[in-house]
Amino acid sequence: MIIAANLKTNLTRSATHKYIEELNSFAEESSQEVLVFPAMTSLDSFETKSITIGTQNAYPTQNGAFTGETGLEQLEEFGIKTILIGHSERRHILGESQEFLVEKFNYFKEKGFKIVFCVGEPQEIREAGKEAMLTYISKQYEGIDTEYANLIIAYEPVWAIGTGLTPTLEDIADIHAELKKKSSAPLLYGGSVKVNNAKDVLSVNNVDGVLVGSAALYVEHFSQMIQYADELSQIK
Ligand code: PEP
Repeated sequence: MIIAANLKTNLTRSATHKYIEELNSFAEESSQEVLVFPAMTSLDSFETKSITIGTQNAYPTQNGAFTGETGLEQLEEFGIKTILIGHSERRHILGESQEFLVEKFNYFKEKGFKIVFCVGEPQEIREAGKEAMLTYISKQYEGIDTEYANLIIAYEPVWAIGTGLTPTLEDIADIHAELKKKSSAPLLYGGSVKVNNAKDVLSVNNVDGVLVGSAALYVEHFSQMIQYADELSQIK
């Protein structure tokens, strides 16, 4: 399974080093794929073979005049080959359009990056019913190469991110079964995964892992999720 931590705009560079060091002692005992996305200024060379470090964002360029952005050159300095694209905070707070996300996707695909591509519906679409949800989410797949070998998809309902709300396990199973018809890429669930629901979520059919925000800030919680995945991998 894939257990991923999105640290968002949290932890300094030195706190991130401490975090990775502590997490590494759990990750090296595990057979799961562990991904961590630190804040941009905390990207660095970390001493770990068991954790893949990814970037939460980047601009589709080698380098150039893109004030405030990070290009391939800056990622290469730290050997980063994994990127998060389409996170709801970038779609909805930073206003990234589907067209721009496709541009980013194609650029980093061409560079061979592992891409964690996020999709998910806001509250009002969920309330409009399953058909509306599937139509909305299908649009987020438009222009994306769903057969890309280095693709991971994360289904993250917008209303569940950082709110403590989650869909029922039946709803997760239902939407994941639908999304698996669109792509055979590993499919993560994200949105208020906590240590007390992670094992149940990881047990759901077609859930290949989790993308965790706030709860991942606690190394011991995130490590516990890795351990749940190890336990479940033996029976799943
Ligand atoms: C996320 O931001 O990807 C996320 C899942 O956040 P949280 O776990 O805090 O809901």
